[in-house]
Amino acid sequence: MYCMEQDVEQILFDKNELNEICDRLAAQITETYRDSGRELVFIVVLKGSMFFASDLLSRIPLACEIEFMKVSSYGSATETSGNLQIHLDLKRDVRDADVVVLEDIVDSGRTLSKLTALLSDRGANSVRCCTLLDKPERRQVAFDADYVGAEIPDAFVIGYGLDYAETYRNLPYVGILKPTVYTTSDES
Ligand code: 5GP
Repeated sequence: MYCMEQDVEQILFDKNELNEICDRLAAQITETYRDSGRELVFIVVLKGSMFFASDLLSRIPLACEIEFMKVSSYGSATETSGNLQIHLDLKRDVRDADVVVLEDIVDSGRTLSKLTALLSDRGANSVRCCTLLDKPERRQVAFDADYVGAEIPDAFVIGYGLDYAETYRNLPYVGILKPTVYTTSDES
């Protein structure tokens, strides 16, 4: 049986470190919304943030709703609006709600800048973003997440929900993928 571990160059965050990140982010989010009288809606961006969202949300004791979206962005680096493809949309109206988007990683910043603009346009009272990982060196569009689990260098990471070609999501840690994996398959 093929073992994914052989494709991991380095483990960046093991399960204990991921738990600590989730503890910290959950405390920050709870503090922000503890006294808010509004509806709180978490939007889990599929598929990459599924493990993160599950661990994070189970640490937040506030009443809330959990929704799912699947989106991708395309277009030139300088475009900050439009070009957001919605593959799975919300099943509810977010008007007047406090919305927190849960994302796996911010890279160029395009996806989250467009998604937050869309949710604001739909009438949310507030839209904040919580990302497990952030690669600030890669930013092409000005975007700052409100809650950041950890900043990482410019490397392609997998595991804990993050994939390469739909594989590696079920690794129980976040690791750097060996570049030979994608250079080899890109050439074939
Ligand atoms: P952005 O719009 O910020 O460039 O793209 C964010 C999306 O790109 C993430 O949600 C994720 O799907 C993908 N992405 C960016 N960097 C990585 C990475 O290092 N590993 C994986 N698995 N996906 C990444």
